[in-house]
Parts: sequence; C-alpha cells; structure tokens
Amino acid sequence: MSFQHIPKVELHTHLEGCAPPDFIRMLAAEKKIDISGIFTPQGGYDFRDFDHFLKVYEAACTTLQTPDDFRRLTLAVLEETAAHGVVYMETFVSPDFCGGGDLAAWKDYLAAMSDAADEGEARFGITLRGIVTGIRHFGPEACKPAARCAAETFGGFVVGYGMAGGEMAGRPADYAYSFDLAREAGMPLTCHAGEWGGAAMVAETIRDLKVARIGHGIGAIDDPALLREIVEKDIVLEVCPGSNVVLKAVPDWASHPIARLRDAGVKVTVSTDDPPFFHTTMSAECDMLHRTFGWDEADFTALNQTALAAAFCDDATRARVAKRLEPAR
Ligand SMILES: [Zn+2]
Repeated sequence: MSFQHIPKVELHTHLEGCAPPDFIRMLAAEKKIDISGIFTPQGGYDFRDFDHFLKVYEAACTTLQTPDDFRRLTLAVLEETAAHGVVYMETFVSPDFCGGGDLAAWKDYLAAMSDAADEGEARFGITLRGIVTGIRHFGPEACKPAARCAAETFGGFVVGYGMAGGEMAGRPADYAYSFDLAREAGMPLTCHAGEWGGAAMVAETIRDLKVARIGHGIGAIDDPALLREIVEKDIVLEVCPGSNVVLKAVPDWASHPIARLRDAGVKVTVSTDDPPFFHTTMSAECDMLHRTFGWDEADFTALNQTALAAAFCDDATRARVAKRLEPAR
C-alpha cells in the first residue's frame, strides 16, 4: 500500500535540514568548499549520533551563503516535498544561518525565501510558511536577535517563533526573554522539547515558554499528569517518528510512543524533521505508521486535519489548504 497520493500537512521541518545532499554538494562545488567528509560513500549525509548530526548539519549550512542560495534551496525542498503529497508545510528558518542574526540581512534572506515559496506554490502546488527559530545551543543571548528578527518580520511568510538545536543546553526559563518578545508581537510559539529531555523538559517548556505546540514531546509519555495537562491546554505535538528512530531517541518503531500519545487523547501530528538526514519522506512515515500500528488512510486524513488546525498560518490560508485535503470525488 502506498500513501504517497494522500494530501498531507507537516508542521515540523528545518529548511536547511530538508536540503537534498546533491543540492548541497552542488553548492559546495560552486563555492569550492570541501565538505566531502559529511557524506557517505553512497552520497547521503553521514553522522554517528545527535551531537555529530548537529555538526554535520552546520557543515552543510556553510554552503548556504547568500539569499539566492536560500531561494534555490527553498525551491529544491518544495519540489521534493510536494512529490510526497504534502500540500502545506511549515519550516524552521534561522536568522543565525541567514545573515548571522542581523535584521537587515535577515530581511534580504527572508524576501528570497518568501519569493521562492510563492514560486513553489505556483509550480508544485505546495504552500510553505516559515517559523523563525532560535538555536538553543548557541545560548540564550544568541536567541534574542533571532526573536527580534522574528517579531520585526511577523506576517505573510513568517507565521511563528520557535527554538531548535541541542535540547539539553540550559533550561527553558533561560530562553523566556526571546519567547516573551515574540509572544508580545502576537506570534504563535513552538519549541523542541521532550526529544531528549524527558517529561520534565516538556513540562518546563509549557510552564515557562507558554507554547501552543511542542516539537517532538515524546518524553511526555512517562508522565500521566503532564499528558492530562497537554490535553487540557490543547497543546499539539509535532511528532517525527522516523527522526526519533534514526537518532535513537527511541529504540525502534514498535516502541515509539506516538500511538500511546494519541490513545491518551493528545493531539499528535506527523512530520519528517530533516528528511534526507533520516532517510525519510512523508510517504515513508505513513508507510511505517501503517506497518507498525496499522494506521490507515482514515487515520492519516484525521492526522492531517489535526495538523492543519494547528498550523500557524492565517485563516484564509487554512481555508484554502482545507479544500485540498478533501478527498477527490
Ligand atoms: Zn526538529
């Protein structure tokens, strides 16, 4: 059974992390940057564990140096993602990788990505929106310019603020300034938590950063009281099962808590995170969820509806995408 044709919504991707390896190799060759060490002999990305993954990711990002590089990246990613039926996608974009946190530079990069999103929508039928992201392991001070860039450019392509990177760097409260700044600008919020930091990190993130969505959040499965709180507060989890298996946040697909989270009443969604790094696609995620938990087309349709309802886009965009989720007649 193939689920490639089902129209899909994914909320948790990192733009640079979606870069096809061939695209990064092409940029590296153009710019004469030697990053051959980050690839396997077969041409995929090569890393040992989560910390090494972050290093390989940042090495790949060194090839992305100009707004035009990000324009080309965005188009390459949209073509690839649309091929798996994705009709709406949110992606984390970082001012740290786009002009080093400088607002004027960020606006140039953002214009390039936003233009590419418009072009990609016309060419490939996929709508892309960006969530401006602080990089946690760069520290709380480095996240402040990212939050300022987010607040200054909120609207249109930019629909939210979030935080990615090494989850075990500091505690959520250390980053409250940036989240407060974005919230005061009216931005919806999400934060990676509970991929590595367990239930306590999820609980602190909800308490101290007051987010509407949690990136991953799988550690919450160990705390029934927290699960009730997540349900009561209507917090949505951006679950990335294939990413969790490859990075060994869980031992294997069978022990992944996504089905138990859903059974507990938690609103779960499914995303690919950094698909070429984790050898996945949205079609492959559906396929593995079908094989592991028996989820079928009706389950995926419900998941996509949940994801669209939790999307940070404006309601006009949501209504437009909703039409595309309706089954073909
Ligand atoms: Zn992520």
